[in-house]
Amino acid sequence: MDRLQKVIAAAGLASRRKAEEMIKDGKVTVNGKTVTELGTKVSPSDAIEVEGVRIEREEKVYYLLYKPRSVLSAVTDDKGRKTVTDLFPEVEERLYPVGRLDYDTTGVLLLTNDGEFAYQMTHPKFNIEKTYVARTKGIPSKEQLKKLERGVVLEDGKTAPARAKILSVDKKMNRAIVSLTIHEGKNRQVKRMFEAIGCPVQKLKRESFGFLGLHGMNAGDRRELTAHEVKQLR
Ligand code: URA
Repeated sequence: MDRLQKVIAAAGLASRRKAEEMIKDGKVTVNGKTVTELGTKVSPSDAIEVEGVRIEREEKVYYLLYKPRSVLSAVTDDKGRKTVTDLFPEVEERLYPVGRLDYDTTGVLLLTNDGEFAYQMTHPKFNIEKTYVARTKGIPSKEQLKKLERGVVLEDGKTAPARAKILSVDKKMNRAIVSLTIHEGKNRQVKRMFEAIGCPVQKLKRESFGFLGLHGMNAGDRRELTAHEVKQLR
């Protein structure tokens, strides 16, 4: 916990003395409420505004989560389901997921409080590869795999070139394990691509995001990215 005037001064908005004046003049709000008391203590998760302008003061943090099944990729859920940020109860920074994985999809999910980083990681122009492993109903033929690779037409447009590979087949159960590498992030893209070739996904896991994989991790595990990893991704 820090004193409010110290936080304002540290953000470079004013000297400590000027910050104290602004507080006394009612120009500062904490979590939407005007605060005129000098020395009010604030924590990193408090939202501070000076004359209506939000102070960016949180240290930037970056996590890799091995998302388990039955967890929502969101900050809150009005239906009360568990969300990925519930898996970080002690983290004070305001984390949010970088893109989404479906409720029933597992695998690599990044979380951060760095908006610019999140934008770079999800925009197709930054070309970050994501590899998914799907269990499909039906065993895709060579021609069907080619279709995935060349691009299939979805209702929101044609998918960009991708790489697809059969990892194993189970003829008795009529299903296959297929890896698909894409660099876009349309909503439910992988499931829709497999649907489009007639082999719907029964189970889906994101194995990697760029060079980040799940080595040695179990569902529900997480770790902070190193500064070097963050730099390499950008
Ligand atoms: N594509 C999907 O269909 N679902 C996911 O969770 C991620 C990519």
